[in-house]
Amino acid sequence: MENETIKTDLMRGKRGIILGVANERSLAWGIAQQLHNAGAEIAFTYFDKIDKLEDKVRKLADSIGSQHVLPCNVADDKSIANVMDTLGKEWGQIDFIVHSIAFADKDELTGRFLHTSRHNFHVSLDASAYSFIAVLSAAHEYLAKDATALTLTYLGGPRVVPNYNLMGVAKAALESSVRYLAADLGPEGIRVNAISAGPVKTVAAMGIGGFRDMLKHHEQTAPSRQATTKEHVGKAGLYLLSSLSEGVTGEIHYVDGGANILGSSLG
Ligand code: NAD
Repeated sequence: MENETIKTDLMRGKRGIILGVANERSLAWGIAQQLHNAGAEIAFTYFDKIDKLEDKVRKLADSIGSQHVLPCNVADDKSIANVMDTLGKEWGQIDFIVHSIAFADKDELTGRFLHTSRHNFHVSLDASAYSFIAVLSAAHEYLAKDATALTLTYLGGPRVVPNYNLMGVAKAALESSVRYLAADLGPEGIRVNAISAGPVKTVAAMGIGGFRDMLKHHEQTAPSRQATTKEHVGKAGLYLLSSLSEGVTGEIHYVDGGANILGSSLG
């Protein structure tokens, strides 16, 4: 079942943007595959400060017939505006947005939280939490009446997970932003949700100190006793971005990452 993609027409005629694909392991790519199989037209962005990322993202985008691959640094308002204006004007409206982005200095994703630096706090919270607000704000004038937005979070936001440190604070801010954005945009028919995923081996995840132990612990304590996959995340993404979840907003949706049965976190 792991590599299965759901074939439906749920997203036929819908056009949206996925920010945060780095390679085929990315959670954003797991969501892209399910949306593509459900008929969606997808534009991708790549972080232009990372060498050769454009080639990787273009290759993946080509594999599902995507016509749009644009640079975007979510720490830069002009860069975000360029993406939204380009696609908003070409398409007339944007039906969905996936924000699958996080950044923190690797050196502070281990050791004592007490030593978190002011600089890293600013940079991490900006790229990992504020950026979701910035993206929706820039997209707002183009968002369809029933548009949906999704971001990715982790259990280290609401609870303490060893080494997750500053990223946990960023996820707490992101999760709270999901609720405020949902309340702000709800009267317009726009829904905003998050997936809180169990650990999956990706480039970002490998930067967290002791990540292999997190994976092992998850498999032993998650209700399903199985590893989370990008396909699990992709299918939940399809649900949250499509009309299947009509009426669901401001929600932190756990993909086997929340209700541990043996303990709330590592250690
Ligand atoms: P990933 O490395 O594949 O994706 C992270 C993406 O963030 C990359 O594409 C990177 O280019 C992008 N990025 C970082 N800074 C950026 C910036 N300034 N501008 C634009 N893009 C930027 O890893 P992933 O695990 O797929 O991460 C995606 C999201 O999922 C993150 O928010 C992460 O915290 C979250 N998440 C991951 C896991 C996991 O275990 N992998 C679990 C729960 C939540």
